[in-house]
Amino acid sequence: MPAIHTLGELRRSGYRPRPVKQEIRDNLVCKLRSGEALFPGIIGYDETVIPQLVNAVLSRHNFILLGLRGQAKSRILRGLTELLDERVPVVPGCEIHDDPTAPLCAACRARVAHEGDALPIAWLDRDARYVEKLATPDVTIADMVGDIDPIKAAQGGLDLADELTMHYGLLPRANRGIFAINELPDLAGKIQVGLFNILQEGDVQIKGYPIRMKLDVMLVFTANPEDYTARGKIITPLKDRIGSEIRTHYPATRHNALAITKQEAWTDRPGAARVEIPSYVREVVEEVAFQARADRKIDKRSGVSQRLPITTLELVVSNAERRALVNNEGIAVPRVTDVYAALPSITGKFELEYEGELRGAEQVARDLIRAAVGTVFTGVFDGVDTRTVVEWFDLGGTLQLSDSTSADDVVTQTRGVQGLRELAERAGLPPGAPAPLVAAAIDFILEGLYAQKKISRSEERGYAAAEAAPRRTARREEQQMDEEIRIPGSKKKYYN
Ligand SMILES: [Zn+2]
Repeated sequence: MPAIHTLGELRRSGYRPRPVKQEIRDNLVCKLRSGEALFPGIIGYDETVIPQLVNAVLSRHNFILLGLRGQAKSRILRGLTELLDERVPVVPGCEIHDDPTAPLCAACRARVAHEGDALPIAWLDRDARYVEKLATPDVTIADMVGDIDPIKAAQGGLDLADELTMHYGLLPRANRGIFAINELPDLAGKIQVGLFNILQEGDVQIKGYPIRMKLDVMLVFTANPEDYTARGKIITPLKDRIGSEIRTHYPATRHNALAITKQEAWTDRPGAARVEIPSYVREVVEEVAFQARADRKIDKRSGVSQRLPITTLELVVSNAERRALVNNEGIAVPRVTDVYAALPSITGKFELEYEGELRGAEQVARDLIRAAVGTVFTGVFDGVDTRTVVEWFDLGGTLQLSDSTSADDVVTQTRGVQGLRELAERAGLPPGAPAPLVAAAIDFILEGLYAQKKISRSEERGYAAAEAAPRRTARREEQQMDEEIRIPGSKKKYYN
């Protein structure tokens, strides 16, 4: 195709203009027929979201993706560009990417009339045919559709109503492509009316002047389901023009969630120490997100993005790298306690409910990590006898370890704890494993026993017996907590 340089050549090639939704449909049909993967990199939607998407595209619908944050909505929309032709012919210099065989704007029509078959043509790549806009209440009709440019009118000696005086907004610039509007309900009603008019009637009024533009655009949207279904946020005629509403979701299984995080997190890092992430560390990181999504202290309407485990895993790996570099270890193995070092990537990723606010974001995050460790530990060590290790602490043993303790130190300090090394091996330690891997497994056992409240952990004493003084302190703290979060003037007591 790029061998074609003029309108005459294009016409002789048998080229026929095709509406963008038809083009996308045709290309999807080809991919379905050949069994090619659709939306590569999107994990866990094969039986839910993707079939609905395919149907919407086959139906040539404008559609909306309804879902909470971090559910790959934007990525899916961007993935639609893969369904566009690799390149299409355009009139060079036209801001709305006019088709040389069927130009919309007056300037291009005039050029075609004047230059005829000699008109040079250009080829536009598909990536340039995707336009994205985050809707906010201050978006104007000028941003979206365009504005009348009085200076342009004066210079050209034109009437203001002449379309040549138009300064194009995003929608006309998306002509012959895909226009994605994120968070549609945040768009002012007036703009929604403008969008609707241009879709329905092909014209729009700008500052009272009617402007005619028969645009060819596939419109796709995203919204939070709560905002979208709330009355009055989206004007009915526009809602009516959206052919399909498709619900996205968080990964339904831990398996899918782990796969997404593995794909997205930057853990393959050249330069520093070699990184080896134990499977239980990955599982704990993922479990934090699952726990958060089910926690009543966290706002369900805004959700907990998949970016939480992704950025958490990145910080966990960084903490392990830091420890390995400082202690001069050749291999960086993340430990469960490194997840606590990732608090900065957790606390900002959820909105708290009232009782969560009372507890504080950091404490909520710590509770989530501890619960996550407990769940993963129980999964790995279900039915395994941990008594010998617990007894060592009950007999007065304590361990002062931190996330910066070197692997050798962890192994040496814990050598006297009977049964600990055997348990560590059950966590999947290969024979002759290097010290950092052994230390990580030991750390997992200790954190697991702490999560199950079989041993205690405090700043001053490190790991110690559960029965000792720390427990009374813990109970006192809990009581205090209950008192603190009693809501004044209400009899209802919140929290555990
Ligand atoms: Zn044009």
